[in-house]
Amino acid sequence: MKNEGSVSRRDFVKAASLVATAVTTGIGLEPMSASAAAPDAQPTLAKPLIGIQVEVNFLQNNLVKFLDDVQTRSSVNTLMMHCAPFEASWGGLDRASNPLGNFATAHPQYYRDIKMQPQALDAGDFNLPDEFQKIREETRKRGMKIIPWMEEDNRARPQIKGFDELYEVDLYGRRTSHHPGGPCLNNPYFRNLLVAQVNDFVRSYDVDGIQRGTERQGPLGNALGAWHHGGDPGHSDPGQTSCFCEYCAAKAAKQGISMDRVKKAYLALEPFVRNGRAGKRPVDGYFVEFWRLLLRNPELLIWEEFWSESMRETQRLVSSTAKAAKPGIPVGYHIWQNISFSPFYRAEQDYHTFTEYADFLKLATYDNPAGERMASFVDSVTQNIFGDLSHQQMLDFEYSVMGLKEKSYAELKARPAPRFSSDYVYEETKRAVDGVAGTSTRITPGLGINIQEHNSTPESVRDCIEAIFRAGGSGLVLSTAYAAMGPENLSAVGATLRELKLV
Ligand SMILES: [Zn+2]
Repeated sequence: MKNEGSVSRRDFVKAASLVATAVTTGIGLEPMSASAAAPDAQPTLAKPLIGIQVEVNFLQNNLVKFLDDVQTRSSVNTLMMHCAPFEASWGGLDRASNPLGNFATAHPQYYRDIKMQPQALDAGDFNLPDEFQKIREETRKRGMKIIPWMEEDNRARPQIKGFDELYEVDLYGRRTSHHPGGPCLNNPYFRNLLVAQVNDFVRSYDVDGIQRGTERQGPLGNALGAWHHGGDPGHSDPGQTSCFCEYCAAKAAKQGISMDRVKKAYLALEPFVRNGRAGKRPVDGYFVEFWRLLLRNPELLIWEEFWSESMRETQRLVSSTAKAAKPGIPVGYHIWQNISFSPFYRAEQDYHTFTEYADFLKLATYDNPAGERMASFVDSVTQNIFGDLSHQQMLDFEYSVMGLKEKSYAELKARPAPRFSSDYVYEETKRAVDGVAGTSTRITPGLGINIQEHNSTPESVRDCIEAIFRAGGSGLVLSTAYAAMGPENLSAVGATLRELKLV
């Protein structure tokens, strides 16, 4: 643990009480005016944002019971309502493959030049406008806020007529159809769609903010499988890395980047990854061979940064569109947990850059699946770029580079998989808080409870909440599925927040 000089937990509880007594009014993302914040923290919220991710269809039959439960047990004050933006009222949609739901029925006047056609609800469809009105009435009674949680990826491409034309094109000219591919960030129809969705959500519904997120990265990270589970069979294919579409080519040409040279670079990388996965070590070793590929093909890095900057452009577009539709509306971004595993992805996700356009950042700093995910990251990158290292050596490298210290590789591979400690949550929250220091951007980490692994306990939940606020977090978002969290863990959330006098 590296947080020497920070407050002890006992001191933190005292400091948190001071903050609570200095609370001004209201809830939101405005910085607290009082300066009695925890000693190593920037100002926290007047009242912390206590959010929960929720799938909208779940609310259809359980609305009152659900709201009562999360408010009573966990002091939830904000619903982050999942809205994969392509559902319910789109022609040709396969509903069975898209069960998460979306509260926003498309209002056709917002959707122009998107290659797809919104259509009216059928008699048997979930009546979304009606449902949203009910949800809004019930949340208002309870003083809860609603923030749409907009995500379009990390799943198979929805079967909507025309949607494929918005998707990225891979190294061999094929449309991508699933993660890590997704809609092309430079496709003008996709940008139109993003603008339309934000306008529709903000102008058609009484929402209190917008949260957008994508769990994707650029072509180099994708080709290498440099994310948790990236090296699992079928998860990454260096021949399917993207994007090589006409819009990316045209934009690149304006910047003096040759798409032909970029393709040549990625074609040179492809056998390095394939051979590595087949256990064929390069003559000079994996790392040297990788560096030689970079020297000879600097377009590998150029294209990675080109993609990352295109993502930032879409984020700026989302923020500016939302704020034009409703001045002052908070806009936040979910940050993929790969930021805790891949140093390459971490380098691209500079928190300070987000402060230009983000009011809050919801980091996926989930302790409970982190052990299993870190081990899978080690498994993936030791098949190519770090193939010269043993699993444990790679994990030690990770802990050093990423500022973490958790269990050994053998321990992480045990089942049931162990959690990361609350030190991990502290370090990642603190790093983000320091990264946005001096700005109005707030850090509201996700608190993972029984995500994938059912290994959360009331004690782990308590420790992580304390770590988040001790590090200067301004709230938290219970993640990811209410049904899996368990009543005892939900109760621990409320009990801890009350103990810390944060609610
Ligand atoms: Zn493209």
